Amino acid sequence: MNFDRSTDAYNEAVDLMPGGVNSPVRAFKSVNMNPIFMERGKGSKIYDIDGQEYVDYVLSWGPLILGHADERVVESLKKTTELGTSFGTPTLIENKLAQLVIDRVPSIEMLRMVNSGTEATMSALRVARGYTGRNKILKFEGNYHGHGDSLLIKAGSGVATLGLPDSPGVPESIAKNTITVPYNDLESVRYVFEEYGDDLAAVIVEPVSGNMGVVPPNEEFLTGLRSITQEHETVLIFDEVMTGFRVGYNSAQGHFGVTPDMTCLGKVIGGGLPVGAYGGKREIMESVAPVGDIYQAGTLSGNPLAMMAGYETLKAMDEEAYEQISKKVDRLIEGFTAAAAEHQIPLTVNRAGSMVGFFFTNQPVTNFETANQSDLEMFSRYYRGMIEEGIFLPPSQFEGTFLSVAHTDEDIEYTIKAAEKVFASL
Ligand code: PMP
Repeated sequence: MNFDRSTDAYNEAVDLMPGGVNSPVRAFKSVNMNPIFMERGKGSKIYDIDGQEYVDYVLSWGPLILGHADERVVESLKKTTELGTSFGTPTLIENKLAQLVIDRVPSIEMLRMVNSGTEATMSALRVARGYTGRNKILKFEGNYHGHGDSLLIKAGSGVATLGLPDSPGVPESIAKNTITVPYNDLESVRYVFEEYGDDLAAVIVEPVSGNMGVVPPNEEFLTGLRSITQEHETVLIFDEVMTGFRVGYNSAQGHFGVTPDMTCLGKVIGGGLPVGAYGGKREIMESVAPVGDIYQAGTLSGNPLAMMAGYETLKAMDEEAYEQISKKVDRLIEGFTAAAAEHQIPLTVNRAGSMVGFFFTNQPVTNFETANQSDLEMFSRYYRGMIEEGIFLPPSQFEGTFLSVAHTDEDIEYTIKAAEKVFASL
């Protein structure tokens, strides 16, 4: 691999943007590389500005479940663009996408479209606080819910990757209303409720955590959260920005059969364009302006291009499509596990539906503490080895690996061969 053009572009970018990037994990810091600049993508492949091809397992950090430049999405976007890109009025495509989401996500009776996952979680928290008249919230260590002030406390994703769990700039007065406990730890949740129960507006949780690598919920975790929050009339929010329409046809809540009061979405529902959404019980959502008095708004919210990309994507993702991805995940896990065993690489694989995470440790990974026991130095060497083989993975141990319907059996076999080769060299 040769990164001459990417290196030039990066040297130019570092003077223009902090770290040369518009989102921190793109800087490739934890794998000791410079960012690779991409030019185009088609199906499961992406191509960098030096002309090199990669099998892509990042998929824009999750949204592209159909793969890059899917023809159905591209054709609809072309037509939509020609009709005008934004009106600031309602459009029919907003109804269509809203209906599709409501039909498939059990907790959502009504929703509001926004422009990112961060906006979705910030808005949902405001609604939960306004609705309950309470201030405190409970979140889990290593869960990431975007960069809103209340949620940037012991967070996962880039803040975990860069080791910045509590960001400067978040006022103490806000941080003190966020309580954090370990993921999968109901006993700690019960303790917090004993202490603060009637002050807790919301519990927000990733139903499968995808921001400390992939960590699924243990058997009683989600049902336990459901019954504790019900008992205390606290709003249970599932942050399904990553898991929504990724874990399965009815999202994580359908997969596990636990229905929260509110749900946040993003990524897949925008099909690669900037979209988020929050929704839930009608009674709660009707407290949002202009029906209720809790304010939340957006100039480009429900933008026709973004709605169209999301609609085409969700429409194409029928139950069979999830089955297909899941089978490829099975094979990938089988291949990686065998290769790791052969070369004595400590590897723990976590998985929920089509969400999969590989950790360089022999220990089970059930929360942020155990995720942190992974060998980050080995991950970094593995990462650079895989890049040399033309495999593009998320450049952090604390992110999930994503597959799309566009990944072929040949892609998977090629990736397993690459892993065998790289594991042998570690
Ligand atoms: N919640 C979760 C679970 C996420 O994974 C992310 C992004 N990775 C967000 C919220 C924030 O979404 P965005 O980056 O679109 O603001």
